[in-house]
Amino acid sequence: MSQAGIQIRGELLLDEPMSRHTSLKVGGPADLYAVPQDRDDLQQLLQQLAAQQIPWMAIGRGYNLLVRDGGVRGAVISLEQLNRIEALAGNKLLAEAGAENLAVVRFGQQLGLGGVGFLAGIPGTIGGAIRMNAGAYGEGILERTVCMTLMRAGEIAEFCIEQLEYGYRRLELLPGDLVLAATLRLEARDPAVTEEEIRKDLELRRSKHNVGHPSAGSFFKNPAGQASWRLIDAAGMRGVRVGGAQVSEVHSNFLVNSGGATAADFLKLSARVKAAVLEQSGVALEEEVRIVGDEP
Ligand SMILES: Cc1cc2nc3c(=O)[nH]c(=O)nc-3n(C[C@H](O)[C@H](O)[C@H](O)COP(=O)(O)OP(=O)(O)OC[C@H]3O[C@@H](n4cnc5c(N)ncnc54)[C@H](O)[C@@H]3O)c2cc1C
Repeated sequence: MSQAGIQIRGELLLDEPMSRHTSLKVGGPADLYAVPQDRDDLQQLLQQLAAQQIPWMAIGRGYNLLVRDGGVRGAVISLEQLNRIEALAGNKLLAEAGAENLAVVRFGQQLGLGGVGFLAGIPGTIGGAIRMNAGAYGEGILERTVCMTLMRAGEIAEFCIEQLEYGYRRLELLPGDLVLAATLRLEARDPAVTEEEIRKDLELRRSKHNVGHPSAGSFFKNPAGQASWRLIDAAGMRGVRVGGAQVSEVHSNFLVNSGGATAADFLKLSARVKAAVLEQSGVALEEEVRIVGDEP
């Protein structure tokens, strides 16, 4: 497909509303939205973008993304087609960035491997999970990561986890680094045990996180030793609304799109929540959601 002087084998869309690609259902248009078919197609795309000095950003499934209403100048690259998963020796799996977390858990389960059940209910892709160090129940994906393949400054490079700095919902990479794939360390586990882990996780999420509206999961990181939802409750912010954005009545660390919200609504609501928590508890909340794009 060819658009705006860029040619790839995969899909290319002009002025594509990012509200279609984010779980919050807000966000203005990306100048160019590209879905390369495979790694070669991606490399061709990146070379053309570099030659034309077009900025770009990679996304997974947009489950942790707040795109401002002015949209994204340059290209948004979806890695959803780079989704191969394969078994490696020594109870390891290689997953490309676009592979969905649950698919990776299921793939391991079929081989009698487990230990990553905490990923089952985290919506999104391995690339997004690695970038965010996504996790649950005190476990994060980077603790299970042996190494990752990055595209750094146009070159493909392999990094072992010991070479990288990371922590709670944090991985230090260079601007422009793109996660291509990761090797995860699993362990021998009866598929029935993994099945039970998946079932419990999904059940817990259905009962506690069933907020009934589009969200990006937890909007704020938990400060060390504290739970953001408690701080937000203590500040009296549960249920507070700005336009169509609302602090969920069900889980107060979820900011939801209760209908017709704009990114500006979410940004205003987030600022109000942060100010209220700072005044009430003296704690400065930090967004877990990634905020990108331009003001209108
Ligand atoms: C209902 C719900 C529940 C959730 N529960 C949890 C939870 O329990 N634990 C948790 O950690 N998160 C949770 N989340 C948040 C979200 O699911 C995770 O952050 C997930 O890892 C995002 O994956 P994604 O593929 O959608 O990434 P995106 O949202 O598309 O991207 C997230 C960030 O990573 C960058 N990125 C994505 N792919 C790449 C790549 N290949 N290379 C470089 N950068 C990349 C993007 O630019 C962006 O900055 C939840 C979200 C929802 C909606």
